[in-house]
Order: sequence, then structure tokens, then C-alpha cells
Amino acid sequence: MALDTDFHSHVSRSSAQRMAQAAQEQGLRVLGLSEHVFQMSEAHSLLEHMGLEGPLLRFDTYIAAVRNAAEEQQLDVRLGLEIDFIPEKNEAIQSFLKGKPWDFLIGSVHEIDGGLFEREHYQGKAEGEARWLRYYQLLRAAVKSGYFDVISHPVRMRSTNPYLPATLDEELEQLAAEATQHDVALEINGYDMLTYPNVVRRLVKACTLHRTPISVGSDAHIPARIAQAHQQTNTLLRVAQIKTVRIWKQRVPEEYVF
Ligand SMILES: [Zn+2]
Ligand SMILES: [Zn+2]
Repeated sequence: MALDTDFHSHVSRSSAQRMAQAAQEQGLRVLGLSEHVFQMSEAHSLLEHMGLEGPLLRFDTYIAAVRNAAEEQQLDVRLGLEIDFIPEKNEAIQSFLKGKPWDFLIGSVHEIDGGLFEREHYQGKAEGEARWLRYYQLLRAAVKSGYFDVISHPVRMRSTNPYLPATLDEELEQLAAEATQHDVALEINGYDMLTYPNVVRRLVKACTLHRTPISVGSDAHIPARIAQAHQQTNTLLRVAQIKTVRIWKQRVPEEYVF
């Protein structure tokens, strides 16, 4: 059995069709497309500060493009969305999503108390550590909100913040325990895996300890990045004795042995 799914990928810089074609060429069995909610014209006014990654899409245009890509490529393509979790805006953002035929919804923390942490730099250890702790508060709130099937890239803060707190393993374990309790998956993200594998390893350890459902997604923004870290992720999960990966259809979880 192989790791033959990818449940985090974007279409704005190419197209659903080109992403599905690349997935098929890579031998994937199922592709989960998950464009950012801030790329959707209906929801964009709530998230104007997020930098656009391509032309705005309407929800119906995006959904039709995903369906057409599946048909044209004869591939099992699932309809997802990556949603910014911002506590005070969550209800308003979610109101745009109701009644649409999602297969899976990804909750992502990109913003902390008004700041996009992937664009920030921290002034030393005290500020950096405090940011990590606040990040995990928000990730746990996203888990508990009940809106999401999976929480993406839960160590992404490492991309700009090297001040790992001494309690990082405890924070990861608490997140993993709450994800298990709420039946929400945590994501092993391809970008993170390639960029700071040692921190991803600590996330996987926490998931093993708490038997947390795992999702695997590349976070590809262009076709060439589909399944970008699957080999490394496969090795890491096997070493950690994790044998199943979670995917979704119409928001119903499925686990497969890889
Ligand atoms: Zn993200
Ligand atoms: Zn993403």
C-alpha cells in the first residue's frame, strides 16, 4: 500500500484541471483540492488583508472547476476549502460555506491577533515564545470549534519564529489530545516537512501518543509540488508506527492503510 492521496492543494496559481492532471501523473488515487477561502470573491471582503495568490474565484466557479477536473482527468477529486480561523470572524466566514457540497474543510491559523505570522519577525526570545503559546491556543480553539475536519500545518509558526518554547512538546500533546477527543485530524504538511522536518517529527510523536487522526497534504500551489514531501512523510509515519491516513468524502471520514 502507498501514500496515494494528497488532501491540501491550491488552484489559483494554475487550475483545478492542471492540478488534477499532475496528481494523476504522480499516480495519486485521490486528490483533495482546497483553495483558500480568501480567494473566493464572496468572502474576500472579510479577509482583504490576505495577499491574493491569483484571480478571485466565485464559489460556484470553483466548485464547477473541481467537478470538471475530476471528469476530464477521470480522477477521484474531492472538494475542499482552506479556511482562515480567526475567532471574531469565524461565524461570518462560515456563513458563506453553508449548503455547499464540501468533502472536507481545513481550518488554518495564519493570523494571530491581527498579524499574519508568516510576514512577521519577532524581537527576541520572550516575544517569540509568547507567540508560539498564543498560536497553540488558537489551534486548540480551531479544533474545538467543530467547524473543521482537519487543522492544517500546526507547526507553521516555525517558518518565521525560531524561538521554540521549552514546552513545545506539551503544547503539541495538548493539541493532539484535543484533536483526538473532537475527532479532528492534524495535518502533516508537505511544505513544513521539507522545511523544518525536526519540528514535524515532534508533531508526529504527539499524534502517535494520543492516537490522533492524521491527514497528509502537500500544500502545493503549483502542479509540480503535488505530493512534494510524500516520500519523507511516508518514512516518518512508518517509523512512528502510524499506519493509517484519514481522508473525507462529503465530510464523512475514511481511513486507509498506506
Ligand atoms: Zn495555510
Ligand atoms: Zn494551503
